[in-house]
Amino acid sequence: MNLKSLSLPELEAALAPAQPSPTAVRKVFAGVFAHARPTVEAVALAPQVPRRVGDLLRAHAEMPSLKVVERRQADDGFVKYLFESPLGGRIEAVRIPIFDEKYVVCVSSQVGCALACDFCMTGKLGFQRNLQTWEILDQVMQVRAEADRRVGGVVFMGMGEPLLNYKETLRAAQILSHPAGFSISGTAITFSTAGHVPAIRRYTREGHPFRLAFSVTSAIPEKRAKVLPIEKTHPLPELIEAIREYSEARRERAMIAYVAIQGFNLGREDAEALKVAFEGIPIKVDLIDVTDPTGKYLPPTAEELSAFRDHLQILKAPIARRYSGGKEIGAACGTLAASQYGGTVLPTPVVAPPR
Ligand code: SF4
Repeated sequence: MNLKSLSLPELEAALAPAQPSPTAVRKVFAGVFAHARPTVEAVALAPQVPRRVGDLLRAHAEMPSLKVVERRQADDGFVKYLFESPLGGRIEAVRIPIFDEKYVVCVSSQVGCALACDFCMTGKLGFQRNLQTWEILDQVMQVRAEADRRVGGVVFMGMGEPLLNYKETLRAAQILSHPAGFSISGTAITFSTAGHVPAIRRYTREGHPFRLAFSVTSAIPEKRAKVLPIEKTHPLPELIEAIREYSEARRERAMIAYVAIQGFNLGREDAEALKVAFEGIPIKVDLIDVTDPTGKYLPPTAEELSAFRDHLQILKAPIARRYSGGKEIGAACGTLAASQYGGTVLPTPVVAPPR
């Protein structure tokens, strides 16, 4: 019984032999996630956990942890964590400061990634394995334990394609948003997908409260295929139809992530292709500068980006530029690959926990 991998209904089923009340089950669940009790023994001794439940936990439960191998802090306040799992493999998470108010944690969902987007270092690792629910949640728990502000959001934009690890990422998000779990609003949890259409359709049908962000990067199929090989398996017309269904079902704008690449996808024709592709679909566009440590792709110049934003006015949609921070520590979008970069290597912990 891995207490860090069980949703509340699953925990209830696992504890059934001890016949606990719903309150006792909730106390165990909150002990693990909301109160971050560090050991099975500490959970078993929590108030309102009956002795027979405590005995069952001692006999059958475990609470494994990722090992923090390294933390690196960038000048802009981003902190990258490198974790090692007892199940094998290294993964990374990024603590993103949102003004002085809160942190958002960018988590990994897989070791490596099969989708091989050409500008992404994780894609160069290839797919190694899916993370289990507890490995996803432990990234947030460890960042939260060292945080001097609340963790108010989680984005599945780290290593891996979250919708290809569907069951584990969904369970993690459900625990993150549960009031006795991490109490993070469902709308502050985002899965970023490169465009796995069957999973997007399933997600829409199931009606989850979490958000999707769709990595489009070009609405010209030949261009998109050059950087996102998934275009060959799930071509744009199919993806756009799935985005339309998502937007209609939720009655909200779909977030289109557009990786801006110098001299590649920032012309008038690229804006016009987006207009044609998304005609009649409410969208908002997030522009993200490419960060490619290999130097094959360069970020846009200020003039290029400004001209593209002007071209995008034909969409009559909100356009935002997403700051992709922590570049010098390899924390920026596309650079997570368990690789070593500069920045300040921090002593443990990042910030002395105030709570
Ligand atoms: S951008 Fe995302 S989906 Fe593409 S290779 Fe990197 S981790 Fe995988």
